[in-house]
Amino acid sequence: MKFYNESFFKRDIGSLKGVGEKTIQAFSKLGIFTFEDLIKFYPRSYEDWTSFSSIASAEDKKDCCLKVKIVNECIGIKLKDGRWLFKIKVSDGLDNLNMIFFNSRYPARNLVLGKEYLIKGKVVKHNGEYEMLSPKVKGLENEFSITPIYNQCEEIVSSKISRIIKNLINCIDEPILETLPDSVLENYGLDSKDFCYRNIHFPKDILSLKRARKRIIFEEFFIYYLSMSSLKVKFRQKTNVVISESFFEEFCEIIPFKLTESQKKVILECFKDINEKGLSMNRLLQGDVGSGKTLVAAALMYAAVKNGYQAALMVPTELLARQHYKTFCSLLSGTGVKINIICGALRAKARKALYEEILLIKSGIIIGTHSLISEGIQFGNLGLIITDEQHRFGVKQRAKLISKGKAPHVLIMSATPIPRTLAMILYEDLDVSILEGVIPGRQKIKTYRIDSTKRSRMFGFLQKTVLRNEQAYIVCASIEERNNGIIDLVSYKELLIKSGGFKAEEIEILHGKMSPYEKDYIMNEFLNNNIKVLISTTVIEVGIDVPNATVMVIENAERFGLSQLHQLRGRVGRGNKQSYCILVSDSNSKDAIRRFSAMKDSCDGFYLSEEDLQIRGPGDFFGVNQHGVPNIKMSTTFQDIPVIQAAHDCAKKLIENDPFLQSPEFKFIRSEVNELSNGSSELNFKVEGVVF
Ligand code: ADP
Ligand code: MG
Repeated sequence: MKFYNESFFKRDIGSLKGVGEKTIQAFSKLGIFTFEDLIKFYPRSYEDWTSFSSIASAEDKKDCCLKVKIVNECIGIKLKDGRWLFKIKVSDGLDNLNMIFFNSRYPARNLVLGKEYLIKGKVVKHNGEYEMLSPKVKGLENEFSITPIYNQCEEIVSSKISRIIKNLINCIDEPILETLPDSVLENYGLDSKDFCYRNIHFPKDILSLKRARKRIIFEEFFIYYLSMSSLKVKFRQKTNVVISESFFEEFCEIIPFKLTESQKKVILECFKDINEKGLSMNRLLQGDVGSGKTLVAAALMYAAVKNGYQAALMVPTELLARQHYKTFCSLLSGTGVKINIICGALRAKARKALYEEILLIKSGIIIGTHSLISEGIQFGNLGLIITDEQHRFGVKQRAKLISKGKAPHVLIMSATPIPRTLAMILYEDLDVSILEGVIPGRQKIKTYRIDSTKRSRMFGFLQKTVLRNEQAYIVCASIEERNNGIIDLVSYKELLIKSGGFKAEEIEILHGKMSPYEKDYIMNEFLNNNIKVLISTTVIEVGIDVPNATVMVIENAERFGLSQLHQLRGRVGRGNKQSYCILVSDSNSKDAIRRFSAMKDSCDGFYLSEEDLQIRGPGDFFGVNQHGVPNIKMSTTFQDIPVIQAAHDCAKKLIENDPFLQSPEFKFIRSEVNELSNGSSELNFKVEGVVF
């Protein structure tokens, strides 16, 4: 890469001592091909052999390090089941402890009576004696070391990875070339690249490790910000698409509600953005569940069409596409606005006709799923793009849709409030509008947690709900398997029918494996109040809007993250009636209980997202397991936010003074930034499932 010696780090790992064909194969499974990949393969965790406990004080603490002397030869004992147990007595000068190994004498083979060793494991008491099962043992020559633990795979274990990385680092006999400008290092108290790459793998001590992590995290996010900022420039193109605000008033007269102040404010923000600068809009709209984002989209799309453009709405599921289609058809009926829907489930002939129409007509609304970006579709005159529930789409998909228009304006809507700190990181390339406040007449959703013994009482409550002519959702974690104590949809329906309070035809189940037609049919029946209780998987999580539904029951609630619970709860409380959310769970896990009480305390998505971040840490976003953020290789936790923040501030300041990083001191980072932003098709935040 651009440090030490470019060609050195570009070399294949095969040219390293001790790396043969087999190891090359194994490394390729871990995504490691070059010296650079290898040195950036940071440890997953570390074993600390630098601080010791006494045997007695270590009892029941996990993974302790002890300094002990061997006081008895190894004894082998044959167990009843035929296995062998090997026992070696050691002492820390105060107490004795038995190291126990099963089946193999191997780990104990070289231990010398009377000699001192470091051992690591969990100390427990067994029949009055201290014991450590299968401890790790090291000679004293390894004293005071912190050993790296790497993500391993079947073909290569952590210790071997460690040895090879050590070989590599030993080869680097001069300091690794610095890439960050001195001013940045100084201002943010960062250590040299050389120090950090060595100490992240083989830390001299805990402090050195901390310092190495700090710089690496800083640098990764610094480069990331800089590339996202350059993307922002790319997404904001010069455009001739003008969408006049004059149709806004007309829109307000058509719709059956009065827009809230916040909805108006956001819509006007968008118009301003669209018309003032001659650049395309590239904006994120964040609004909590039920805050009324659809109307914001409708207002802008209506204006776009009236100005003679096509406006596309891209949503993550067919269910949602169909719902929006219906909403738009009824909102805009009689206005002459043409509305089309594109879904996966279309016959070839119908599809062809539809594609032709979309190419030929110059104005109209087109609603669809990912199919909107499929190769075959060409738009005649695409001026506005809105995506709903943006977190399901990546930058790549957005870019693809944008490329189908002539510098169209883009609004991304997300119902997943994310903490400000993370918003800045995830959406660096966007301007942000926030839809705040509550729609008039809405009541706080009352939220309760019960355990499964109270389920039959809860059924009574559901029955009363139905008698009031209101409806309920029940969310289960599983479709059909009945394992791990998780209730499935089918047996839940039986349970509910057996409870005696419901007619079978009032209850339906809904899940993602059904055909679009079935799903659509059932949702429609629910919307028309022919189905009273809908038992479902999380397919209903995103965007579904049935204002007459007032109860949301979430079974096995411990299985869901806080943000997801909040999203699910957001399916009720959409009308003016009092709504309820009942979390059913037998879990006593500390985190689960914390999530439940946060849910009870608050219905505010922004507050809950902060809580969620505290409980889980942001590691899930940027960690090594997140496909999508190519240069973030270090996993981060909540404690790292200040460093991430500092990197952001630094990048921002830097760009203000030197937008194209032309100063010579940015030579190295400039090429890294270009590399990353040119490969932007891979910058894809796919934060699916539990997270935001
Ligand atoms: P979300 O932000 O979750 O997408 P929706 O746009 O689906 O929320 O709106 C939630 C519900 O509130 C819908 O039934 C919608 O018709 C209704 N709604 C939206 N704006 C208003 C308003 N200004 N006055 C009354 N009801 C509104
Ligand atoms: Mg919505």
